[in-house]
Amino acid sequence: MGWSFRIAQVKGIDIKVHVTFFLILILGAVQWGGITGTLDGAIFGVVLMILLFTCVTLHELGHSLVALRFDIPVREITLLPLGGVAQITKNPDKPLHELLIAIAGPLVNVVIAAILFVILGGIGGASVLNGRGLLTSLEQPSPQGLLVWLLAANISLVVFNLIPAFPLDGGRVLRALLAMALGYRRATRIASAIGQIIAFGLGIFGLLEGNFILMLIAVFVFFGAGQENAMAESKTILTTLRVGDAYNRNALTLAVGDRVSKVVDFLLTSYQPDFAVMQGSNLIGIITRSDVLQSLATSTVDLFVTEVMERDMLKVDAEKTLQEVRELMTQQSKRVAAVYNGNAYLGLISAEDISEAFAVLAFQARQREARQGQQTQSGQV
Ligand SMILES: [Zn+2]
Repeated sequence: MGWSFRIAQVKGIDIKVHVTFFLILILGAVQWGGITGTLDGAIFGVVLMILLFTCVTLHELGHSLVALRFDIPVREITLLPLGGVAQITKNPDKPLHELLIAIAGPLVNVVIAAILFVILGGIGGASVLNGRGLLTSLEQPSPQGLLVWLLAANISLVVFNLIPAFPLDGGRVLRALLAMALGYRRATRIASAIGQIIAFGLGIFGLLEGNFILMLIAVFVFFGAGQENAMAESKTILTTLRVGDAYNRNALTLAVGDRVSKVVDFLLTSYQPDFAVMQGSNLIGIITRSDVLQSLATSTVDLFVTEVMERDMLKVDAEKTLQEVRELMTQQSKRVAAVYNGNAYLGLISAEDISEAFAVLAFQARQREARQGQQTQSGQV
């Protein structure tokens, strides 16, 4: 994610903070400074926010470390003002793995809450842990107040995340449980429908209560659920086609001695955005439209394509499914992959090619379903 910088690294996972995150720190300082009218109050606000986001980070690390256990790469964890995002590069194939990854996050907060509960009990005994004691400490910027706030926040994190609606953890838990009995695609359809119903209810409730944040969350969950369903559909469909059957067979290619001006010609006269640079029958690099544009913008001479091409390529076997290739592209942040049959180079495939293939396959699948529907209808008549 742009505009974010690394503050730590755990097991190879970068933990990054987005610049807008500092708004939250300022907000904490202003709010608590305003309530108490003191500098101590402002410092309390900042410390509270930092500790709060430490809990969020630990939650995301819970998901991430379990994902790593199942050999699913995690690119980074980014902290935004609205929470943390762990970029786990793909959904696990086994429902049990998805269940464990999803539950690990909230479980971390359960553990933190339990520890805080014990500490608070140790400090103030029962007088702190009854309702009135908790409320009093919430109003004062004291160390005890800090612990009570964190306890409340961790409990809220568990409750909120376990709402069974995508993209919240509860939605994933629900999908994983359903998938054990019904298969991935049907489980996703049902889980995402339930998620949208819950989001709708949440939205109505927020509207009646005049709670803007709740309405915002409802919208976020509603679209998240729809997106998850679309992703599951495309995953199922893209697993049916091998990349060897989908790459562009009639692609224009470049040779070692060619210059950028030739690629410009190709770009103007064809719809092809990426070109293989060949040495005989061997692929030695890929040159993309953006490489060309960058070269045109920064260079005054007509460079050789070998000077601007990308040598570090993603190579995939023709036997892989489009879904596998798409996952590899996401993991390695590549838009284009070179397709090979053993050692023989066949051609290139891009993320756009996969999207197009998906559109065609989804259309065919819908037509098949419609035909089957007609047949069963006429069968009943
Ligand atoms: Zn989570």
